[in-house]
Amino acid sequence: MKIKRLSALVLAGMMVFSLSACGGSGDSGTSASGEDTSVQDIVDRGVMKVGVKADVPKFSLQDTATGEYVGFEDDLAYEIAGEIFGVTADEAKEQGLVEFQAVNAKTRGPLVENGELDCVIATFTITDERKETYNFSPAYYTDAVGILVNADSGIASIEDLDGKIIGVAQSSTSQEEFNKYIEENGIDVAPSFQEFATYPELAQALAAKQIDAFSVDRAILEGYRNDSNMFLDVRYGFQDYGVCSAKEKTGLAELISTKIQTMLDNGEITALLEKHDISVE
Ligand code: GLU
Repeated sequence: MKIKRLSALVLAGMMVFSLSACGGSGDSGTSASGEDTSVQDIVDRGVMKVGVKADVPKFSLQDTATGEYVGFEDDLAYEIAGEIFGVTADEAKEQGLVEFQAVNAKTRGPLVENGELDCVIATFTITDERKETYNFSPAYYTDAVGILVNADSGIASIEDLDGKIIGVAQSSTSQEEFNKYIEENGIDVAPSFQEFATYPELAQALAAKQIDAFSVDRAILEGYRNDSNMFLDVRYGFQDYGVCSAKEKTGLAELISTKIQTMLDNGEITALLEKHDISVE
């Protein structure tokens, strides 16, 4: 009897513990009573955790000497943090209210889903499929997919890619957009695709001629342009970038969306794009 009562007590204790663990003010973004705490969680923590790219010039580049992230998307992070903490974007930067973490196309989604990051501002294309899993802000930039080839490859057009290998990043939209483009335009080419985890690996594979072409968004490809490679004169798969946050963190998603929409309406997005010398095509 005693043992039974003891185990009932232990069980009850465990239930209380696990309820508070899942419903507390941790990364779940919801309180025990079901209230959305996603913004307050960040305020209480004192820092907003943001996933950004480390290798996309003008958008988000990490200075290897200082570790600092610089670019349009990093500035957007300071703007959103300013909104959350009730300070200006400059103050958010000065006070270290944003903690950046480098992400790539494969890691960014899971890091938002598991609560390690509050949001991701990392050339993340808004798609209908992704919207089923994540929240996205209104689009802050539209980019097109491009193709980079070795300058001495003799490849000059999309038709020349027949039978060639195109390198793409895992979990990116690049292969799908290529196939859509050739189908819609009746272009008869049949390349094969090879997936890589990161862009530096793709650039290296192109330089080593293990692949014939490297395809992704033009903004990303810009970071890997050099004297021995060149862009094919083609732009397709226009896609919108949005700030991504977890599906259940509705308070945070609303704050981010309102901030981005306000910045679109009052010209601040355009001013930030100009500051970073990003052309709007
Ligand atoms: N923007 C594209 C995507 O979201 C390319 C991948 C990337 O952003 O790294 O799939």
